[in-house]
Amino acid sequence: MNRLEQAITTISDYPSPGVQFRDITSLVENPQAFAEACEQLAAPFADAGIQKVLAIEARGFIFGGAVAVALGAGMVMARKPGKLPRKVIAQTYELEYGKDMLCLHVDAIKPGERVLLLDDLIATGGTAMAATDLAQKLGAEVVAASFVVALPELGGLGRLQARNIQTHALLEYE
Ligand code: IMP
Repeated sequence: MNRLEQAITTISDYPSPGVQFRDITSLVENPQAFAEACEQLAAPFADAGIQKVLAIEARGFIFGGAVAVALGAGMVMARKPGKLPRKVIAQTYELEYGKDMLCLHVDAIKPGERVLLLDDLIATGGTAMAATDLAQKLGAEVVAASFVVALPELGGLGRLQARNIQTHALLEYE
């Protein structure tokens, strides 16, 4: 088991019975593991000409700032409704139970800008696809997506790859 894997805590039956919740709070509390995760999230894209890192509320923000600085890129926040003060575009998406919505400032990404999507974890990919749709509506080129944890069996990485988005995950769990 590597340092990152050791630093993640798995909680059974949270938030509902049968779910194995991968908790990254213990990883970011560990200075070596946090630094290593930020470095590894950015490293494959050092020469990819990324202009904006698009991080998803809320845990994506923890890593997004550090990755944006490492890549010399700006940091864009995909937020829940009612949080961004200027004009936004919004996208609803399906959750396991119900729906949610993400918003972007309409001027956060310029047409043609090269974007790296970032979140702590990808499962079904519903959240990442909503953020991708928003960025693409603004004319962005979503080049790649980087995650601390991926659950590939739930299909999210495949959904991004089907849209020609390169994917990268530091850890994969069944
Ligand atoms: P998806 O939309 O099904 O890919 O779910 C991904 C979203 O749900 C991300 O924003 C994650 O932060 C959150 N999420 C789902 N499962 C977990 C988990 O086990 N640990 C932490 N976050 C999770």
